[in-house]
Amino acid sequence: MAVPDKITQEVSELRAQIETHNRLYHALDSPEIPDADYDVLVARLELLEDQYDLLIPSSPTQRIGGEALSQFTQLTHVMPMLSLDKVSNEKDLADFELRLQKRLGDDGELEYSCEPKVDGVAVSLLYRGGVLQRGATRGDGVTGEDITHNVKTIPSIPLQLEIAAAPALIEIRGEIFLGKKGFARLNRRAEEEGSKIFVNPRNTAAGALRQLDPRHTARVPLQMYCYSVGIFEGLALPDQLGEIFKLLASWGLPVNPDISTRVGIEACQTYCTELLARRDSLEYEIDGAVIKIDNLVTQRRLGSNARTPRWAMAFKFPAEEKTTRVLDVEFQVGRTGTITPVARLEPVFVGGVTVSNTTLHNMDEIERLGLSIGDTVIVRRAGDVIPKIVKVVRSRSQKNRKKIRLPEACPACGSAIEKDGEVFYKCSAGIICPAQRKESIKHFASRTAMDIEGLGSKLVEQLVDEGMIGNVADIFLLGIERLADLERMGNKSADNLIAAIDKSKQTTLPRFLFALGIREVGAATAQQLAMYYGDIGQIAAADAESLERVPDIGPIVAAHIRTFFENPENLALIKALQDYGVRWPEIAVDANAQARPLLGKTYVLTGTLQQMPRDEAKRRLLALGAKVAGSVSKNTDCVVAGPGAGSKLMKAEALAIKVIDEGEFLALLDALSQ
Ligand SMILES: [Zn+2]
Repeated sequence: MAVPDKITQEVSELRAQIETHNRLYHALDSPEIPDADYDVLVARLELLEDQYDLLIPSSPTQRIGGEALSQFTQLTHVMPMLSLDKVSNEKDLADFELRLQKRLGDDGELEYSCEPKVDGVAVSLLYRGGVLQRGATRGDGVTGEDITHNVKTIPSIPLQLEIAAAPALIEIRGEIFLGKKGFARLNRRAEEEGSKIFVNPRNTAAGALRQLDPRHTARVPLQMYCYSVGIFEGLALPDQLGEIFKLLASWGLPVNPDISTRVGIEACQTYCTELLARRDSLEYEIDGAVIKIDNLVTQRRLGSNARTPRWAMAFKFPAEEKTTRVLDVEFQVGRTGTITPVARLEPVFVGGVTVSNTTLHNMDEIERLGLSIGDTVIVRRAGDVIPKIVKVVRSRSQKNRKKIRLPEACPACGSAIEKDGEVFYKCSAGIICPAQRKESIKHFASRTAMDIEGLGSKLVEQLVDEGMIGNVADIFLLGIERLADLERMGNKSADNLIAAIDKSKQTTLPRFLFALGIREVGAATAQQLAMYYGDIGQIAAADAESLERVPDIGPIVAAHIRTFFENPENLALIKALQDYGVRWPEIAVDANAQARPLLGKTYVLTGTLQQMPRDEAKRRLLALGAKVAGSVSKNTDCVVAGPGAGSKLMKAEALAIKVIDEGEFLALLDALSQ
């Protein structure tokens, strides 16, 4: 049957469109089109391919084409996938070069290809005539498993290489991994659905590739970076690894942009240092760097040992996950009275530092982990992020385990403990509780708040215990004589402290607001408040409705701000601080922000609006500063639902997002446009 040109063109456009959306969906956080629209594109393509017999192996319809397998097929790698020798310090890396120079009989500097060692799953991809034919796990290096059906679901892996004269055969080797964003997105979804939270990206990627049903794999946004070529037939490859990577990229294969060619081992050491410094900001997890001889002829001259090539070396970074034991759990009282369980750990070196305690956040977290005192746990510390317990390792010996119980009274003052929101507990005593008093003073004096140099945690505790200060205003009444009498404090330190306190009086409104320690008002929110109102009196007088117009302030934070300023003691405190000389320069109010009262808010329109076309509704929202999104997420502030609203409305309800009908929407527009 002759296929009309129109159809051929539509099919090719559909394929390009679907692949673009696949990539967007996986690579970026927000898909460009809703799932339903995407499904329509795929259904149309399937129909045309079937009707006009246009199906080709590289069509995106083939990515999740296959049926679920009943088991994995074992296969033997034509060329074994070797492992790598490892070093973890610069001296051993330098020795690596010395060994190479000795073996080559030449002590000249060598050229290396340096790449991040992505923490994922090593795979082999076979392309025959440019078409992806087989994907396999590394396995033990000799025998792996056939995971073709799962590999095909990964959008960044081309089903067909973009090459005019495709080689008869080429094996691409690389690492399949789950990026940090994809991992976070997956766990957000798991949380919403109430299903199991994934522990780390590597295990999640490995688990996804071990699915018998490719539809399960497709739910995980896997990615891949190529790191070498295995066997090949029917083409000549360049001699330099760097050139090969360029070639692979030109064929549409994903190549890590952080690969770099360096001359001499010192330059490789620098590469490792720089990479380690960037570890936290990379989009994917790494456990080190791989240093390879760049020239393939030299690689062949050096050859391999039984299990490892002589021309490559892995430089390992400090592990970000380690096992240790929970020795005890203590309960700390924060500045707003929140009681937080903190685990004391057998000290462990993880992520480059020694960790001996970590917060457990709340009792629900303890329950989720199934944690008891005495348990062996996996502690994770990545970059500057605070260490956390990610998993309890079940051991057979369950002796000496002790259940973790919430104390019956506040550990600092003995007052009753009350429930605070869904998962938290707090001391009911308020400012009378010495722990709360100490924490609020420490916060007030801290660097990002009033920045009183020399007034650290220890000294605050001492001053409160001695009865020398009871609240933040008392700081400004401290006299030099009594200070100098304190233990470990001489005249000189007392002088310095008084000078620092005096200096701190000249502050800024955002700092002052932040220093007050209003619940959930962090430095960024304090800044927004200051810019929006410009004056503390106005902030104190603002009602919830007004506060919610400030960017990034929702109903909960607005309520905390109201509670704070409705308390006469807090108002008296602010007045006292101003009487003692705390000052800040005036702020020019951002008139623009006030003119756009919905700045920072995200609205979603769904269903049919009867009194206003949807475009008009959207235009009005944008004019008021709001963002109008196509789909509902945790970041949505409000959903406007007309008759016929379906899945978006359900999702909004599931996420407990505010929903208003058309009448309420029109009233809102009226109120804001005055
Ligand atoms: Zn207390």
